[in-house]
Amino acid sequence: MKKYNIKADKRLGQHFLIDSRPLLSMIEAAQLSPEDEVLEIGPGLGVLTLELGTRAKRVVAVEKDRQLIPVLDDLTRDFKNICILEEDVLKLDLEKMSESLFGGRFKVIANLPYYITNPIIMKIIENRNMVTLAVLMVQKEVAQRLTACPGKKDYGILSIAVKLYADVNMICTIGRESFLPPPKVESAVVRLTLRQEPRVQLKDESFFFKVVEAAFGERRKTIKNSLKSRLALAGTDLDIIDKALEAAGIDALRRGETLSIEEYARLAEELQRHMS
Ligand code: SAM
Repeated sequence: MKKYNIKADKRLGQHFLIDSRPLLSMIEAAQLSPEDEVLEIGPGLGVLTLELGTRAKRVVAVEKDRQLIPVLDDLTRDFKNICILEEDVLKLDLEKMSESLFGGRFKVIANLPYYITNPIIMKIIENRNMVTLAVLMVQKEVAQRLTACPGKKDYGILSIAVKLYADVNMICTIGRESFLPPPKVESAVVRLTLRQEPRVQLKDESFFFKVVEAAFGERRKTIKNSLKSRLALAGTDLDIIDKALEAAGIDALRRGETLSIEEYARLAEELQRHMS
């Protein structure tokens, strides 16, 4: 940072890794082979980028902060397999990028800017036809949500959305002192192994998520009451909810946070069946 006269911009979530242990845990979790192509989000000062460059066939590193681009170009100048792109990852068309820079499916490896963790994770999930695996440094509490099981306090819409399309592993937790400047929160590394097919077959994914959102909208209520007050069943009989719960084999007095993905899928299907 001194050499290039860089000041960390906290608005861009700039907390640079200064500890090699989490770095090596991320590399190991990514199970890299010399044939792998890797997208790195937010290379910052290039610590992870350089490690990836020595192990992967090709690395595309997407950095939003213009002041870091000449630094990254300088640090990676000896690596013909590293390409630095100045871009906002949320605006990046992954399909186009992959077509022009990669030969096939790729891995995503990143110490994420925490202020956009959820949209980045959702983007990875939406592009699961191109991404095989993602190793991500996130806030510890996000990692807990991603790995939470039904009935646990961290279990929620994010857990369901991600587990539907990925197998999630907690790799390690990392203290604040591993970064400069230290963030306010603790961090963790998670690995998402993307599935081509969802964990459960859904007839209508958008209705499935409407049901999940309605159920988690009022966590303290029973599943029956949350659905009655939150699910917009315009012009339909509220008895449908009781009938669908019964047909799906779900006790109406349970809370939404105790239902598994499979139970939500059954419930959504029964609701739609009773509505039609
Ligand atoms: N990879 C570096 C490391 O581990 O030390 C830096 C990680 S830092 C937590 C997050 C990085 O993401 C920063 O370099 C920041 O400038 C970059 N960033 C923030 N918003 C971004 C966006 N929308 N698109 C791409 N990069 C972004």
